[in-house]
Amino acid sequence: MQALTISSHGGLDRLELRNDLPSPELHRPGDVRIRVRAAALNRLDLFVVAGLPGVTIAPPWILGADASGVIDAIGADVTTVAVGDHVVINGGVSDRTCEYCRDGEQPLCPRYGILGEHLPGTIAESVVVPAANVRPIPNTVPFEAAAAFTLATLTAWRMIVSRARVKSNEDVLIWGIGGGVALAALQICKLIGARTWVVSGSDDKLRRAAELGADVLLDRTTTDVARTIRERTNKRGVDVVVDNVGKATWEQSLRALGRRGRLVSCGATSGPIVETDLRRLFWNQWSILGSTMGNDAEFDAIVAELAAGRLMPVVDSVFSLADGRAAFERLASGEQFGKVVIRVP
Ligand SMILES: [Zn+2]
Repeated sequence: MQALTISSHGGLDRLELRNDLPSPELHRPGDVRIRVRAAALNRLDLFVVAGLPGVTIAPPWILGADASGVIDAIGADVTTVAVGDHVVINGGVSDRTCEYCRDGEQPLCPRYGILGEHLPGTIAESVVVPAANVRPIPNTVPFEAAAAFTLATLTAWRMIVSRARVKSNEDVLIWGIGGGVALAALQICKLIGARTWVVSGSDDKLRRAAELGADVLLDRTTTDVARTIRERTNKRGVDVVVDNVGKATWEQSLRALGRRGRLVSCGATSGPIVETDLRRLFWNQWSILGSTMGNDAEFDAIVAELAAGRLMPVVDSVFSLADGRAAFERLASGEQFGKVVIRVP
């Protein structure tokens, strides 16, 4: 089968489209095989190409954590999906036996693995995953949108709904609008009815965020984000900050955060080490929340929103599998607004 692979770490010149890989077989009675119709890229895929500390790949390594497709084989124990079903894949695979899994909190599993990072990825003609990692979707949802949906929306849902527990009358600051998680966070906040303050260095991205319902647009290149928020909220600040940037935005995030505010982080693209004045933390009774991926209940919840048409991801661009490297270059450029998708023939 065809798949987009790397055999060593480095730049995007390491990407290699192979057409000589064996089709994966079902390993366990609970597995399903998906004939992939579209896969979507995440920042994680760039990190895997560059090489992540502690993560060893077995070449040729198939990239990709997100995909949609059609079930073409199921194990003997599988009852939740049937051959021919259109599905989305949750790229986070857990052991389903540890204390966290039994508690329904799969992303905390000590043996948690992500497709394309710890397990063979989705940018391939076929992929095998546990049935618990797929959900059927209506045939009316385009494969490209479905592929673009899961990882970013699941991550954002856990951050906004489960961790920060955003309410309808609250103000939420979202950094880096244009990224998949930030856009999903905006859409989920609008669904809840919260007021959103979105930040970008691009006028074009801010204009497009406004079309999606963003309430306040902040250009970080011309505005002191935290000061503007303080001024425009009569010094109150926002209730929740969604910060995936880390070092570069941390100080501004905390200056923007009001009393009993929650800062939720699922990434640190600009650097992981930050400084926090603990006196402000306890005096303002802030909560600093970490979040990653999502559990089975959250996966069910977002797929229900997709099926009902209430959440639909923003797709920036669609590339053919043969142009996989161009897709990665688009993601690496940082110019995208929404998800970069690869169509699999
Ligand atoms: Zn577990």
